[in-house]
Amino acid sequence: MTSVLAFCTATVTSIPRSALEVVAAARSLAQQLGGVSAQALLLGARVEQQAYALIQHGADEVFLVDHPSLASLEDEVALGVAEYVVRQMTPQVVLFPHDDLAGGHVAPRLAYRLKAGIVTDCTGFAVQDHEIRWLRPVYGGKAMAYFRAQGPIQVATVRSRAFEPLPADPSRRGEVRPVDINPETFLPTVRAVERVETAEVEEGPSLDRAEIIVSGGRGMGSAEGFQVLHDLARVLGAAVGGSRPAADMGWVPHSHLVGQTGKIVAPKLYIAVGISGATQHMAGAGSSKTIVAINKDPDAPIFKLAHIGVVSEWEKVIPPLIQIFREMRSQG
Ligand SMILES: Cc1cc2nc3c(=O)[nH]c(=O)nc-3n(C[C@H](O)[C@H](O)[C@H](O)COP(=O)(O)OP(=O)(O)OC[C@H]3O[C@@H](n4cnc5c(N)ncnc54)[C@H](O)[C@@H]3O)c2cc1C
Repeated sequence: MTSVLAFCTATVTSIPRSALEVVAAARSLAQQLGGVSAQALLLGARVEQQAYALIQHGADEVFLVDHPSLASLEDEVALGVAEYVVRQMTPQVVLFPHDDLAGGHVAPRLAYRLKAGIVTDCTGFAVQDHEIRWLRPVYGGKAMAYFRAQGPIQVATVRSRAFEPLPADPSRRGEVRPVDINPETFLPTVRAVERVETAEVEEGPSLDRAEIIVSGGRGMGSAEGFQVLHDLARVLGAAVGGSRPAADMGWVPHSHLVGQTGKIVAPKLYIAVGISGATQHMAGAGSSKTIVAINKDPDAPIFKLAHIGVVSEWEKVIPPLIQIFREMRSQG
């Protein structure tokens, strides 16, 4: 039987949402292809429990590579393990989350090694006459296009939040199959010997994973103005993002730039403050479930894309909102 294989990582305490999303995508694709099983490849250290959790969340079978060296994952090791397992199991499709490690470093190199067709940043797919058509945004999100990948195996990366994790079903049964392999075989000749936190490491959730993002643009006026967005993010448990000018002026680290040349995000709520809504910015934020725009210019393009628009100077809206949220929190 052919299969769709989802590439997943986990830690001893948790499974990232991206792993559950990619398993949900694999399950959906397997069902559409018909007679195909949804498999997962799980890498991590002391993650056997998480392998069973992946079955509850939709996998039929999990190939488990559980090794102390995988507590912190190196690109080369993830690539070597993925190649080994894919060559052994010969799935029809390999799915990766579209993140830095899997989508950025592992998937393209695996596709090259396998001479497989790859489609990146997919938000969906359709199956027609047993052929998969991969859906992904093009022209900075202005249009969507279907792609066909060639080769005996197809590789695809799945955009964050394009698929909802399936709820855990404790009655689901599946097999966890430990893979007999030593990941250290794939250790690269150049290795990270120490990880140093940079000044950019901030409190709160990461931009990739946050359910709420508060994002600011040139309209915030200054670094001090931008600080108000950090206060708002803190009370909401949100991450902070920014437009190109905000990043260029140093109000927000470049790693928090949202847009075509920055991060592509899809939170449940994207609050855009003092951002005009240029195509290049919205290419990164346009997939958010709900977009709230606060802008003093009623003709700002962002109002065409926002679900909720507030025409006002942010100074009149954000500080009172923070005050209200703080009071609500202090009242429990
Ligand atoms: C190749 C290329 C790639 C690019 N990639 C990106 C990218 O990845 N991300 C990105 O963001 N940009 C990108 N850009 C830049 C992009 O085209 C825009 O210039 C940029 O997004 C504009 O940022 P902004 O909305 O913060 O600023 P502006 O366009 O200057 O808008 C500021 C807004 O703030 C409003 N405002 C001003 N004062 C207030 C106030 N007190 N209260 C409320 N509202 C106020 C104004 O009405 C205005 O709408 C790229 C450009 C190019 C050419």
